[in-house]
Amino acid sequence: MGFTTFGLSDHIMKGIGAAGYTVPTPIQILAIEPALAGRDIIACAQTGTGKTAAFVLPILHHLASGAGVHAGGKLPRALVLTPTRELCQQVQLAAAKYGKFLALRSTSIYGGAGMEQQIKALRRGADIVVATPGRLLDHMQRKTVDLSGIRILVLDEADRMLDMGFINDVRKIIAAIPSQRQTMLFSATISADIKTLASNILRDPQTVQVGERRNPAETIVQHFYNAPQGAKIDLLVHAMEAEQMQSVLVFSRTKHGADKISRRLERTGIASAAIHSNRTQSQREKALEGFKEGKFRVLVATDIAARGIDVSGISHVINYDVPQYPEDYIHRIGRTGRAGASGDAITFVSREEQQYLTRIEKFVGKRYTVNAYPGFTASPQQAQAHVSFPSRSGRTAPQHDNTRHPQSGRTAPQHENKRHPQSGRTAPKHDNTRHPQSGRTVPHTDKRYPVQPGRKKPDHKKMESYSSDSSGAGWSNY
Ligand code: AMP
Repeated sequence: MGFTTFGLSDHIMKGIGAAGYTVPTPIQILAIEPALAGRDIIACAQTGTGKTAAFVLPILHHLASGAGVHAGGKLPRALVLTPTRELCQQVQLAAAKYGKFLALRSTSIYGGAGMEQQIKALRRGADIVVATPGRLLDHMQRKTVDLSGIRILVLDEADRMLDMGFINDVRKIIAAIPSQRQTMLFSATISADIKTLASNILRDPQTVQVGERRNPAETIVQHFYNAPQGAKIDLLVHAMEAEQMQSVLVFSRTKHGADKISRRLERTGIASAAIHSNRTQSQREKALEGFKEGKFRVLVATDIAARGIDVSGISHVINYDVPQYPEDYIHRIGRTGRAGASGDAITFVSREEQQYLTRIEKFVGKRYTVNAYPGFTASPQQAQAHVSFPSRSGRTAPQHDNTRHPQSGRTAPQHENKRHPQSGRTAPKHDNTRHPQSGRTVPHTDKRYPVQPGRKKPDHKKMESYSSDSSGAGWSNY
């Protein structure tokens, strides 16, 4: 199926062609048609699925054709709300990219940037406004934006918007928008709160959902390695060199941690930048641009700052800290393996973090095996805080014997890799089996790591009974 089946205008088709897209992604196949028909939509789709084009293309079509949309002079006619500045910029750039051959204007409105420039852009007139809720409310209070012409509203990453406490701002904004409108809600997860919000703001919505929403993209190979907290920085440097990683997104739980990791990498001669909410807008932009251009081999980010980062070609995502919320794990690793490309996700697991790994396993319904990183042994000082920390696999760290990756030419640990059945990429060999539904390799449940003192043995039967469920049903206990 190609984009031609949607009946989009030639100008939009040209924009899609210029973006280099030939085939719509699954979310685009499912959402574009009802969106073009003017339906309200509730879409469950993770980042990296092509969800932005799924709502931007119908917006462009409606605004350019004027069908069902009555222009309000210079007033904005479509509003996209996003949780973060980065996502806000990305969506606006996407609108400009796909709408390159249309005479429509778009602008982004977000905090941390000058008010004056945004006011000027709004005065000049923008057909599409992409905004973060807080800054948009500022403009509403100053009467520098008029939302009475809005006919299409999109809530992007609605779950994150609620998580970040924007619900009241979102409600106030929606109250200022005409009720005669098309509304589309995109969210990575559909929680009870999202359902409540949806029932208040959507009319007879069409529900669309792609993939196994709790499962990461098939193209991402996931690895888990034991690491006492104090040894993680050395393990990071070791792994980067061992696998000759070129474009790496490292996640840190805290802003302070992100700075520390970045500084330490710089000292080792690995060009790196950090991105988090304590950094100024221009620092963040510089870091992101530098990373995109390859000036920095590593971008260290916190979860919130990383929302909306759209960089293609990230070869590795490294979870320096195990995320405390499983949704964040899915979001984080979704930064690699974008739109069908393959990628590696590596998670460093300290003993204290195993509880978070267990949460992730319950969430995705799979078991993961945590190994010692080949050729890496924590020094006694590094491991000091966790003297009794055993290898979960019970294996001793093997010799440093790396071989070149068959596809990428990168070196990769040799002795415990085998070819990934779908992607043809290498993946840890020794205790993986094929997942019954997806056909992907998953760890053997009977080869679990030994139970550590004071740690409750995971209930395998319970896990397995959930492992094939991708609908989310039956998960309420978790
Ligand atoms: P999104 O989920 O909207 O953040 O998109 C993820 C990535 O997929 C972005 O880099 C898009 O440029 C890219 N993308 C979106 N749609 C397509 C498509 N039909 N073909 C190829 N790449 C796409």
